[in-house]
Amino acid sequence: MGGRARRCDRGEAVSAVCYALPPLRGTATHEGSLADFIWFRTGGPAEWLVRPQDVNDLAAFMAGLEDDTPVLPVGVGSNLIVRDGGVPGVVVRLPKAMAKISVEPGNRVRAGGAAMGISVASGARDAGIAGLEFLRGIPGTVGGAVRMNAGAYGRDTSDILIEATVVMRDGSIEVWPAAKLGYTYRHSDLPAGAVIVEALFGGVPGDPKVIGAEMDRIAAEREASQPLRSRTGGSTFKNPEGHKAWALIDAAGCRGLTRGDAQVSEKHCNFLLNLGSATSAEIEALGEEVRAKVKAQSGVELEWEIQRVGVVK
Ligand SMILES: Cc1cc2nc3c(=O)[nH]c(=O)nc-3n(C[C@H](O)[C@H](O)[C@H](O)COP(=O)(O)OP(=O)(O)OC[C@H]3O[C@@H](n4cnc5c(N)ncnc54)[C@H](O)[C@@H]3O)c2cc1C
Repeated sequence: MGGRARRCDRGEAVSAVCYALPPLRGTATHEGSLADFIWFRTGGPAEWLVRPQDVNDLAAFMAGLEDDTPVLPVGVGSNLIVRDGGVPGVVVRLPKAMAKISVEPGNRVRAGGAAMGISVASGARDAGIAGLEFLRGIPGTVGGAVRMNAGAYGRDTSDILIEATVVMRDGSIEVWPAAKLGYTYRHSDLPAGAVIVEALFGGVPGDPKVIGAEMDRIAAEREASQPLRSRTGGSTFKNPEGHKAWALIDAAGCRGLTRGDAQVSEKHCNFLLNLGSATSAEIEALGEEVRAKVKAQSGVELEWEIQRVGVVK
């Protein structure tokens, strides 16, 4: 760390050190593996995989980075294709210490950016707070849910978020009321490089038994309809206005389609799978093939919901 790294050419492999890092109390790993933990288990490493110790560590680190250093926050990669050439610059993964959950008066739950949706839903249930049950079915972090406006069963994160604490790219710490995030379907206006470190959610009073039963129902329904134990990235495409993406994909004959070890799931055809040794390039190319076939069959242009990051190999 320290010192000025040489400026790299665009597209250069991330094995080169292109960006120098300021001091950090947490850890920074050069060529840190992302494929080790993201759901697809594919793709290249981060030039720097950074795990800050706490919010202040992250803020000081971000303030010390040179302005042109790219910063990408990741959760558990349940909605991510990391391209095979890896991610230049800094990838921030929040540590377990930033996954704390606490209950506040007024049926509110405060959760660290690294907390999993299921933990937030369970914390709310135990405190008799209803309305957060849908997070039970979304296998990502609070940071990912707030950024993606994740949702299910007619509810989105925007329906329950009161405010989010964000470390901006310049290292300043800001509290954003939900309205500032400009939420629409699976979209927020969070600026590139900003990291969500905490969120405050609001619900309504409820009976823990009823809330628990709803969470169990969600879990069972998911089990029946989604390839939960596969290497996947969740819903590949957004549902176009007035359509279900899976139905368009099915009608275009794409169910089960393969490219190398990448496959359109037979169980839920808006999910792509890595059957074993697929590359990110194969998964992405399969997604593009599906888009082309759906466009030819129905005239509808599918929009990627999965976030595709990094550089091609
Ligand atoms: C089996 C399965 C089922 C799924 N079901 C649903 C569903 O029902 N509804 C739904 O909406 N989604 C669903 N998803 C997709 C996914 O779980 C959500 O999008 C989730 O919110 C992503 O969270 P993550 O922590 O994994 O984020 P990642 O996939 O790691 O990242 C997704 C995006 O969020 C950004 N991000 C992550 N953490 C932060 C942070 N701390 N600060 C700022 N930005 C951040 C990343 O930069 C990236 O742009 C499903 C996925 C799977 C695998």
